[in-house]
Amino acid sequence: MAISIGDFLSKSLTRVFGSKHERDIKTLTPIIEEINKIYEGLSSLSEDELKAKTPEFRQRLEDGETLDDILPEAYAVVKEACRRMVGQSWIVMGHETEWNMVPFDCQLIGAIVLHQGNIAEMATGEGKSLVATMPLYLNALTGKGAHFITVNDYLVQRDVEWYGKIYEYLGLSVAFITSNMSILARQAAYGSDITYGTNNEFGFDYLRDNMSIRPEDQVQRGFNYALVDEVDSVLVDEARTPLIISGPVGGSNTHKYEEMKPLVQSFVRDQTKLVSKKIAEAERLLNDGENYEAGLLLLQSQRGTPKNKRLMKLLSSNPELKKLIMKVESEYIRDKRMTEIDEELLFVIDERNHTINFTDRALSTMRPEEREIFVLPDLNEVLSEIEHDDTLSTDDKALKQDEITREFALKSEKIHNANQLLRAYTLFEKDQQYVVQDGKVMIVDEFTGRLMSGRRYSDGLHQALEAKENVTIEQETQTMATITLQNYFRMYDKLSGMTGTAETEATEFWEIYKLDVVVIPTNRPIVRRDYDDQVYRTRREKYNAIVDRIRYLNELGRPVLVGTVSVDVSETLSRMLKRQGIRHEVLNAKQHKREAEIVANAGRHGAVTIATNMAGRGTDIKLEPVVRDIKSDEHEIPGGLQIIGTERHEARRIDRQLRGRSGRQGDPGSSMFYLSLEDDLMRLFGSERIAGVMERLGVEEGEVITHGMITRAIDRAQKRVEAQNFAIRKHLLEYDNVMNAQREIIYDMRNAALNSESVRDRINEMMEDVIDELLNEYTDGRGVPADWDMDGLITAFTSTFFMTFSLTEDQELTFSVEALRDYLIKIAKSGYDHKASGIKSDSLAWNERVILLTTIDQHWKEHLYEMDQLKEGIGLRGYGQKDPLVEYKREGYVTFQNTVAAISSSTLKSILKGLTAAQYEQAQRQEVLKASNAQTSHEDYSAYEEKSVSGPSPGRAPQKAQTIVRTDRKIGRNELCPCGSGKKYKQCCGK
Ligand code: ADP
Ligand code: MG
Repeated sequence: MAISIGDFLSKSLTRVFGSKHERDIKTLTPIIEEINKIYEGLSSLSEDELKAKTPEFRQRLEDGETLDDILPEAYAVVKEACRRMVGQSWIVMGHETEWNMVPFDCQLIGAIVLHQGNIAEMATGEGKSLVATMPLYLNALTGKGAHFITVNDYLVQRDVEWYGKIYEYLGLSVAFITSNMSILARQAAYGSDITYGTNNEFGFDYLRDNMSIRPEDQVQRGFNYALVDEVDSVLVDEARTPLIISGPVGGSNTHKYEEMKPLVQSFVRDQTKLVSKKIAEAERLLNDGENYEAGLLLLQSQRGTPKNKRLMKLLSSNPELKKLIMKVESEYIRDKRMTEIDEELLFVIDERNHTINFTDRALSTMRPEEREIFVLPDLNEVLSEIEHDDTLSTDDKALKQDEITREFALKSEKIHNANQLLRAYTLFEKDQQYVVQDGKVMIVDEFTGRLMSGRRYSDGLHQALEAKENVTIEQETQTMATITLQNYFRMYDKLSGMTGTAETEATEFWEIYKLDVVVIPTNRPIVRRDYDDQVYRTRREKYNAIVDRIRYLNELGRPVLVGTVSVDVSETLSRMLKRQGIRHEVLNAKQHKREAEIVANAGRHGAVTIATNMAGRGTDIKLEPVVRDIKSDEHEIPGGLQIIGTERHEARRIDRQLRGRSGRQGDPGSSMFYLSLEDDLMRLFGSERIAGVMERLGVEEGEVITHGMITRAIDRAQKRVEAQNFAIRKHLLEYDNVMNAQREIIYDMRNAALNSESVRDRINEMMEDVIDELLNEYTDGRGVPADWDMDGLITAFTSTFFMTFSLTEDQELTFSVEALRDYLIKIAKSGYDHKASGIKSDSLAWNERVILLTTIDQHWKEHLYEMDQLKEGIGLRGYGQKDPLVEYKREGYVTFQNTVAAISSSTLKSILKGLTAAQYEQAQRQEVLKASNAQTSHEDYSAYEEKSVSGPSPGRAPQKAQTIVRTDRKIGRNELCPCGSGKKYKQCCGK
């Protein structure tokens, strides 16, 4: 066998120094030896003696030993408990199941890495659920709780029923939380030593706890240790979307989708016609050898309707054309003539830059009243003009500014609606990104293919899709509480995670969570064979090849698991297989309930299973013994499960996840990805080069090309997309961090109020704050009251405190600001005491607290809304060369200060307004009623929609992660105009 020098060198270097992971793991070897030595000694203990270890450990922790000190013993005890349970059986998810697991050394390594607060990358089938029991047991010994987070309710329950026996055997309590659980049950679950649940349950409980009026209604008790299973799915994929608890927006629905729909529809229709003509013309020119002209037309078509079927077909059957288009494009960009390309189009879609815009041409074809909508004035300029108009009185200015602002908002709403409709029509396809079921538009999760019930695209896109599909346009809801998973999990004192696929995202885990990824060696060597990609020109050829391969393997009896990127592809393949009479299971968004069952059976003789990419994550695929020896290719190691990927995913991680379904625990198996030049990833990045190679090699219709070079080129493309997606997620997080800091302050304030006997001190502080505010506004800090606007001050004071004051002439001439401050505080406090004296003290305290809490909640809700608007506004206005994030932070800070001030004054107002004994009794009765509702019927909460919408929190923001298209990318006034004119934005479309 030939080996290149480079190879040889790198191999021998690795041998001497070992890779970083190997070195990391080497340092653990002595601990493993120690665990195993202690373990050997444990077999002589009686059952009671073994069980007594748990209280012993607890005592030693109390006496000052650390978790690290007792780790070897604790892990040995778990291992011994496992050994003693072997042969016992119990019911797991309705099936009698026999325990047969004693942790392997590799599993002990993983367990140590997890205790240390890292991510353990352990391949699928390595037994991560068992690994988790050790760090959970150890960390729960502190009595502060240990949380295990996994991806769905099914796995939560399975793992507790199966592995929970270990904790129980050793005397620790374990419980799980699922949706539809009462507050009492939840409290019990969180009160257990170890709590299992999904990320959503944990996150929503946190938010709900911070909405409760009584401390008794809170269910969580701190954030000690969290172990996240399938950590990449939770912290990378799911983390893109914030958790939101929301209720319907008050007031009327202002959207204008119905109004804008006909206009958008007609543009889409006209553009489709126009592009079809251009493509036909291009084809004719190509036949005549007029290539450059054809390239021009194709470039136009691509910018007009990038997903046009005919265009995609033409490009893939003629790989050279892509290069041609790029060449034309770069020339036009260079000569700053892109406007010429776009001038006939009505709207321009730039897939690579995620922008979508109406053109001047569209404007010119509109009726005047329609065009009027799309011409937005520079709001700041207009407002400041009015401000400086000396012919207007102050009142008139305010009126006029109000009117202009309202008009502006209405127009913006319409433009926004039209843009979202355009997206809905051109970039979203039914049964791909969404399905329509029971009159509702439901999002299909791009990773799992599952329907994401209750979730909505943010920023009005969902409403646009509802308008497009002629179903009821649902009301937008208002956020009442929100947090991103990132910020939720960062609250834990210690966080760790495990998955089969973390390494490719190691940078992100480190930068965002300070989590290190440690790759744990597999228990048995992996023998799975991963083939090079099979590349075809068109999707059709690719699907045919896939079906051929499936038929061939199926005739031999080898099981096949086909991973698809969308429900649509699943169904296409399913139809094709049906036609060929091949029996198979399809697992798609429309029937995810049997998911676990079907996937578990995917290793049976002759099984053909089609599933969207990550469906059934966490489900074990056991091979039926006979399939191990079915050889399908002569050079192949024995058979087992064959994985067929129907497309490469944007992230390498997802592809690795799919491959990893085969070859568990040293099982035989293989994986093969089928690609075509029409695939999204190929289309957007890198298909030109591959097309060139195919051309050179003279690849014919229906022929396949496989080459390491292609596989590597695709890898590179994926890396680029991964980096881009990471940048987007990081950007979102930066925005969220602003709000997170604010949320922490408000929640602290809230919790302090919730958990204190009396909030009187807090109220006194608020009085002082409000008085300071007033003095700030009505005095200038120097001089005496006679110089200040005392009438204004008295009015303002009266309207907040519902009591008034007056100064003697003497005071008017001698008081400093400080003296006035003391005087006002004394008046306010004694007035408050006087009014309060008529009320029983416990009911007073109760009411003060409730009023304070509800006031905080009300203002926080409004604050969230304002922050939303702010984010959006920053996107709309464009800030010249200023960094929008900095602006957001700055304005967000001011908004927050206003909110905090408003909380103080409204609380005082509510408390003081009618401080009569009768009203107090009544308020108290109402609050008790409200609180008891919250306690007994949890459904009251589920009446709020729990959802995580796409994109950044909460709801709207300048940039979107989930949707392919970014909304209203803010264009700096001095940036080049996106229309391609080469002029500055402010001198062109931004005029
Ligand atoms: P992963 O989550 O790593 O994909 P699972 O926790 O689902 O793996 O376990 C995969 C399979 O391996 C399960 O059937 C489990 O019973 C089995 N298993 C795990 N650890 C052991 C062990 N130490 N000995 C025997 N079987 C084990
Ligand atoms: Mg698992």
